[in-house]
Amino acid sequence: MADHFRVFATCDIGEALDILRKRGYKLEVYPDPKAPPKALILEKLRTGIDGLITTLRDQIDAEVFEAGKGTLKVVAQFAVGFDNINRADANRYKIPFTNTADVLTEATAEFAFFMMGSLARKLWPAEHLTRDNKWGFWHPYLPFLGDEVTGKTIAIIGTGRIGLAMIKKCAGFDMNILCYDPAYQNHQYVSAIQETMDLRHARGIQKEKTWIKYVSLEEALSQADFVSVHVPLIREGESDTPTFHLFNERTLRSMKPSAFLVNTSRGPVIDEAALAMALKENWIGGAALDVYEKEPLPADSPLRDPAITDRCRLFPHFASAAKITRLSPDPDKGMAGRCVQGLIDVLEVNYGGDIKKMPYVVNKEVF
Ligand code: NAD
Repeated sequence: MADHFRVFATCDIGEALDILRKRGYKLEVYPDPKAPPKALILEKLRTGIDGLITTLRDQIDAEVFEAGKGTLKVVAQFAVGFDNINRADANRYKIPFTNTADVLTEATAEFAFFMMGSLARKLWPAEHLTRDNKWGFWHPYLPFLGDEVTGKTIAIIGTGRIGLAMIKKCAGFDMNILCYDPAYQNHQYVSAIQETMDLRHARGIQKEKTWIKYVSLEEALSQADFVSVHVPLIREGESDTPTFHLFNERTLRSMKPSAFLVNTSRGPVIDEAALAMALKENWIGGAALDVYEKEPLPADSPLRDPAITDRCRLFPHFASAAKITRLSPDPDKGMAGRCVQGLIDVLEVNYGGDIKKMPYVVNKEVF
């Protein structure tokens, strides 16, 4: 049994932690729902922690790895995104870190789709109208109309796991699909989607013929009615395809004035000051955001400007926030289960101790 392992979880991730307790791990869970201060994480590590369970709220860098030097063996991140973990520092200290890819793919993509529908069909202002008792009469076009999603063109920016899942959902709504990804292109998947589109048309399931293709960013942004962002946050210098402020004044101005932008990726992918201006000055039709440059969204954020409220939907980093997705202890269903299994794999030297073979380890390059 693994009774000598000490694990510190910076957050309660639910019943999956019982898997560790039952195996005899000495587990300490930070009890506050807010993130612990970094000083506390450092303090814990200096007492000799073997495994650290983290969330996107924790900055994991050289200082953390130095504090854990000699004892820390793994950082298990409860998320697919790991921009809070300094990969170069983890590699320098040769500490593997894991993530929870795949199990949140469908939940995140469906939330992006619902955000898009909510924005386009004006669900928020429509419900307010009803609740505020301002629905005085039925009328063909007053007080406002929404935009259909069905039959429109969407640009998918980033065709990794979540981007491909979003494509699948959009194809079901008879949308045309423009794909952009400078680093990974899944032509086999795109061909299979085109085949299903053609079959649906041939069998009379959809009236219009639809299409899907890879294009340049310029083409994607200038032609799309909807733009949905599914990239990791990559800062300048971290790769050849940085995504920091990928959406800025120039790229926002290249979108159609009627287009809607949906972001479930990471906040700093969009320059929020430029986006607030784009909404206020009608360079684009609207935006639905789940993530922000600073989270939680500050009270004085320009995105809260009442002048743009009806065209700007704001959600609390909620795209993966579904019960099974977040908390299932099954590593094939839930982030919690996958996070715990990633930690166990490293600490219990699974896969013959070959870190390269461990499915949830991200920084395999140094092992
Ligand atoms: P992934 O790694 O499978 O896919 C990301 C894709 O983006 C890759 O194909 C990559 O080539 C592409 N890419 C990289 N640079 C690009 C660029 N400059 N332009 C366009 N594409 C680029 O990751 P995933 O599992 O699909 O997750 C994507 C991101 O979504 C995560 O990194 C995370 O930050 C975010 N996310 C957010 C939530 C949420 O709750 N809001 C939930 C899950 C994931």
